[in-house]
Amino acid sequence: MKTSVPSITLNDGHTIPQLGFGVFKVEPTETKRIVSDALRVGYRHLDTAAIYGNEQGVGDAIATSGIDRGELYVTTKLWNARQGDALDAFDESLEKLGLDYVDLYLIHWPAPANGRFVDAWKSLEKIRESGRARSIGVSNFEEAHLQRLLAETEVVPAVNQIELHPAHQQQKVTEFARRKGIAIEAWGPLGQGKYPLFEETVVAVAAEAHDKTPAQVVIRWHLQTGNIVFPKSNSRERMAENFDVLDFALSDSEVAAISGLERSGRMGGHPNDVN
Ligand code: NAD
Repeated sequence: MKTSVPSITLNDGHTIPQLGFGVFKVEPTETKRIVSDALRVGYRHLDTAAIYGNEQGVGDAIATSGIDRGELYVTTKLWNARQGDALDAFDESLEKLGLDYVDLYLIHWPAPANGRFVDAWKSLEKIRESGRARSIGVSNFEEAHLQRLLAETEVVPAVNQIELHPAHQQQKVTEFARRKGIAIEAWGPLGQGKYPLFEETVVAVAAEAHDKTPAQVVIRWHLQTGNIVFPKSNSRERMAENFDVLDFALSDSEVAAISGLERSGRMGGHPNDVN
């Protein structure tokens, strides 16, 4: 069985490692150490955001890692309050990261009440054109928000990063995005520790059958259903656990049973309400 991280080809021809490491709620002062640990474990895809306040720590870890820039995949995101000056906000992120390009730049939330996400997207199109973001995408976009971008702008987003785990699969927006060639990134892939996914019988039974942990089974479910994921953990042991998912596969019936956990509950805010 292939034991390297699979990659997905995005609609712009660039590839993205399907398994990465996310740094939401990683303290700025701890970020360099934690991301350095993640890189030592083997992660090469990092997901941060301006609002996390830890881009500099991510950049410091990259700078001291000795890993070629070309082997890394780095995503950051434009915060809502900066949708009106996305070009400056992007420059600030790049500077904090200490990089001359990012692999993926996302609009973090549509914040539709502010009425600026279409203009922000046009700025991201310019950033992509300049080569300083290889790919551009969105996050927390509902079908209506995607429809507006498709109707009013040139570039189809490469990804939509949305809250998604087995109990909240977001079928409607996911199916729409995939039809339009937009890849799905799943945030909160483990239920953020808020939803008791690991206690679900079908997860526990599959874990037992494969001699893996429930978290590994849930990450495998994401990979096999085509989602891009970057689970977060501050602990090196769990980082390693979450990365050790490449030497087994769930059966079709296990995947189907886990997909049956849909409960349609959101952990985060509704995309129409987060400003
Ligand atoms: P997650 O589902 O990855 O959950 C992280 C939590 O799960 C950890 O804090 C820990 O408590 C627990 N955990 C991790 N590994 C475990 C293991 N092996 N066993 C038991 N428990 C374990 O949630 P997340 O961090 O919110 O999401 C992942 C990433 O997605 C973030 O770090 C961030 O990069 C991104 N994200 C994006 C948005 C957005 O609006 N675009 C929002 C939230 C998160």
